[in-house]
Amino acid sequence: MTTIVQKFGGTSVGDTDKIKRVAQRIKQRMQEGHKVVTVVSAMGKSTDRLVELADEITEEPDPREMDMLLTTGEQVTISLVVMALKEIGVEAVSLTGWQAGIVTEEVHQDARIKDIQTETLEQHLDDGKAVLVAGFQGVSEEGNITTLGRGGSDTTAVALAAALDAETCSIFTDVTGVYTSDPRYVKKARQLGSISYDEMLELAHLGAGVLHPRAVEFAKNSHVKLVVCSSMEDVEGTIVEEEATMEQNLTVRGLAFEKNITKVTVERLPNHFDTMSNLFKLLADEGISVDIIIQQMTADHGVNVSFSVDSSHLSKTLELIESAKETLCYSEVRHESMLSKVSIVGSGMISNPGVAADMFKVLAEEEVAIKMVSTSEIAVSAVVPEEDMIRASEALHSHFGLDYQEQKKIELAKQA
Ligand code: ADP
Ligand code: ASP
Ligand code: MG
Repeated sequence: MTTIVQKFGGTSVGDTDKIKRVAQRIKQRMQEGHKVVTVVSAMGKSTDRLVELADEITEEPDPREMDMLLTTGEQVTISLVVMALKEIGVEAVSLTGWQAGIVTEEVHQDARIKDIQTETLEQHLDDGKAVLVAGFQGVSEEGNITTLGRGGSDTTAVALAAALDAETCSIFTDVTGVYTSDPRYVKKARQLGSISYDEMLELAHLGAGVLHPRAVEFAKNSHVKLVVCSSMEDVEGTIVEEEATMEQNLTVRGLAFEKNITKVTVERLPNHFDTMSNLFKLLADEGISVDIIIQQMTADHGVNVSFSVDSSHLSKTLELIESAKETLCYSEVRHESMLSKVSIVGSGMISNPGVAADMFKVLAEEEVAIKMVSTSEIAVSAVVPEEDMIRASEALHSHFGLDYQEQKKIELAKQA
């Protein structure tokens, strides 16, 4: 008997009819002879509503209490799915993260899983029960309830699949699979048959919200066969695996974007060995993560340093830099908000020089200003004004042959 893990996201368990449908799917998989572990998210937008409740009380909610609050969302879903299963004659049990043995770091709101003690879970599976696990939560060794970061139920599912040596981990969601870009915004995006762990990891880190980046990291490290598919339609999903087998002819496999980026520039810092370390330690000590960094010499032998941060961290960043003006010895700090980051990703870039040049040409033709650039082996990102984000993404999507019709043409040409 093989074990399978499946995960249903918020939209897929958004109301009680959908919950009943999930129960039917679980029953079906059990009748096919599988041991079935199912991870669920909080219903619909209920996590957002819990966040709003906390916001109504305080501007800076205590992180421990925030985890205590947010984990209740997933507990509602597991109990309802088990009730629905019992209604259709399936023995089932719900487990919170800590009951399922998910041990995390002592970090609130963004904890990493350290270990999964699977004894209880395996006992229930051996007893022939469907097991429902609350996503996105665990417990620290100190006994505090923790969460894995927004979207973290994907990570719960993949980590359980790795710990239980499951045959597959299926992520059921509101789209039919991983697309070349977010189909909600890029209308010509099309679904991929498969994508490599590395490409998916890069896309997830660069803003493709379809999978939590740590879930992909786990899948890659533990060789979990990961499938993203629709909870509504019975169509083939996308396989995330070691080597993507299809569409080798394309250099760029996907495109991601994210908003809420601010560029901060600190002008005329002294050109000393410790300038960069002093500036960035100041931010790191307060948990502010910085993305792209650019350092430039000035004509009078000082340095200008620009970096990008999430806009939600802007006021804290400026406050820290301004309060350290005397020690950092700079002349001025400036910032530019309402920016976004558009990224193209593809492992074909390793052997194809000129992709960045091509990207800049497309952005120039579209008259989109490039504020910052960063590259990795398989990705190029450009920071551009937020108002141009979708237009720039669509132009790049077309140029790199990702559009729905473009691909059809390439396939037909190959057959001819
Ligand atoms: P869930 O609640 O099931 O976890 P999410 O909202 O977290 O669902 O993820 C699914 C959404 O991810 C889709 O509705 C889609 O808008 C978005 N998305 C972003 N990038 C992509 C992509 N490359 N492929 C598919 N969906 C994407
Ligand atoms: N409910 C949590 C969220 O909305 C976790 C998840 O859905 O993965 O972020
Ligand atoms: Mg999600």
